[in-house]
Amino acid sequence: MDLGLENRIAVVTGGSSGIGLAAARLLLNEGARVAICGRDPNRLEAAKRELTALPGADVLAQRCDVLDRADVERFAHAVAAWSGGKVDLLVNNAGQGRVSTFATTSDKDWRQELELKIFSQTLPIQAFKSLLERSDAAAIVGVNSLLALQPEPHMVATAAARASVQSLLKSLSVEFAPHIRVNSILLGLVESGQWQRRFEARADKAETRGAWFANLARSKHIPLGRLGQPEEAARAILFLGSPAASYITGASLEISGGVSRHI
Ligand code: NDP
Repeated sequence: MDLGLENRIAVVTGGSSGIGLAAARLLLNEGARVAICGRDPNRLEAAKRELTALPGADVLAQRCDVLDRADVERFAHAVAAWSGGKVDLLVNNAGQGRVSTFATTSDKDWRQELELKIFSQTLPIQAFKSLLERSDAAAIVGVNSLLALQPEPHMVATAAARASVQSLLKSLSVEFAPHIRVNSILLGLVESGQWQRRFEARADKAETRGAWFANLARSKHIPLGRLGQPEEAARAILFLGSPAASYITGASLEISGGVSRHI
């Protein structure tokens, strides 16, 4: 199937690692031009080097904290100058989860978590909306978590914030129709930067990477028996964000190895 992404302009927030980097790579492979951002300049530079090495790749990489309005607006201006004034796809992917129960979540933690999840969507959407309006196939894909529908007590703040993001994106899918499609993906556990960091911080340093991830998958009762790979999440992002999904808006697609329990 032709996704229709050739020569399209895609922006991926948090494109310097994990799922965002995998999405950038696949978008370039489909012939899109890709702009990425992240906060850490070294990680961003490494990602840019990797992406620009792909055949025919046209990549813009700019340091930007998606929670900083001025940063996001600067990023949008740079993208406008580089792309010729339009964007076809905005992938709101930047972020991370917070492991804490109600008992261990302070007021400050609650505020930070709600701010991260909401403003990492709203600030880029506000900054890129006028560029998306110049596309004939505009789409936004929000990278969200299955916790939005299936909360877990050990990630209480993240789950509550994820549910609000789902509500926000659903509202936008109506407000922005028919011109901009808005969809989301709901992730289970995907083997990327944040899980690598948790592996590195494991209590038993003798436990190998393979054994640690296999135990994690077992303990989470994932029917497919393993964590997802970043490319597996990225493929869903590409589909929902591409002209091939032209009649899909306000939808969410689970990429969880079957871990959800609702029907
Ligand atoms: P990674 O840690 O590998 O990648 C996160 C990316 O987001 C990095 O490029 C990071 O770069 C960037 N980022 C984080 N915060 C900001 C910020 N404020 N401004 C700009 N960039 C930022 O994690 P994943 O690939 O796993 O995560 C991608 C998304 O998927 C996240 O939103 C995450 O919460 C979500 N998710 C992931 C799950 C999983 O199991 N992997 C499960 C559920 C949801 P830098 O730190 O340099 O800014």
